[in-house]
Amino acid sequence: MVINSKISLQETLEIAKKEGETIGLVPTMGALHEGHLSLINFAYSQCDRIVVSIFVNPTQFNNTSDLEKYPRNVSKDTEFLKDHNPETIVFTPEVEEIYSDKVETEPFEFGNFVNFMEGEFRTGHFEGVGSVLKRLFDIVKPDKAFFGEKDYQQLMVVKKLVEITGQDVEIMGCPTSRNEFGLAQSSRNFRLNDAQLKEAELIHEALTKAKNRFSTNSIETIEKEIEQLFQSHPSFELEYFSIVNEKDLIPTKTKEPGEKHRAFIAAFLGEVRLIDNMALY
Ligand code: AMP
Repeated sequence: MVINSKISLQETLEIAKKEGETIGLVPTMGALHEGHLSLINFAYSQCDRIVVSIFVNPTQFNNTSDLEKYPRNVSKDTEFLKDHNPETIVFTPEVEEIYSDKVETEPFEFGNFVNFMEGEFRTGHFEGVGSVLKRLFDIVKPDKAFFGEKDYQQLMVVKKLVEITGQDVEIMGCPTSRNEFGLAQSSRNFRLNDAQLKEAELIHEALTKAKNRFSTNSIETIEKEIEQLFQSHPSFELEYFSIVNEKDLIPTKTKEPGEKHRAFIAAFLGEVRLIDNMALY
């Protein structure tokens, strides 16, 4: 079922809720792929009714060309979802439906979670993410909402968001879905040609190398090695490679006992910006 107005969506969900069904929300920006399906499958294991929203949120793009070039194919996406499970409610609102006539971000105090990596290199990105999700949670009022660890920093920010807003929704993280060569599935991969798709495997290779080296090498050594690896592949431009404390996402050069670490990468392959991350334990 495809719905584009929030009123119709709320009417449909009211009926489901009256029948005692639990509601799961999977927010997406469309150009759907296996990674999204892994989230949806997990959502179905947790909730009775699943709403998948497809909305390319203008306020989370700090770069207009990135927003314009973001892959869009709503009719293909809705077919894809129908083939996967005809019960899924697909919410495809226009921008006005979400933002009325003011397409603006709201300020949020996300603290350290937004000071580094995506927050540092994409100014205002997480305020945009917070602005749209706060609205989507208000419209859908889901019991649980599902987010991929592929965007690990976003997952942490969303947990912080509901702490700030007090919205009654449980935020669930789901493992990153990868192709057979380790490349994280992403809508941005649709913009890569076959040769670039092969090259893009370097990102997973770099993260795996960092993980394998982590117990025996210093963080500084690992960071140098990964920077050199990208320098030897000139089709890439590495934006950042960071090893951070998993609990607060602050980059660190030291390994204290009991701390867990995670490595994050953002790199341009041609014009396409790709991100990925991996636990180092
Ligand atoms: P997007 O459409 O890129 O905004 O992604 C929508 C949701 O799907 C976000 O929670 C992402 O983290 C998640 N997602 C995207 N790609 C993957 C993937 N390869 N594995 C797991 N989750 C993913």
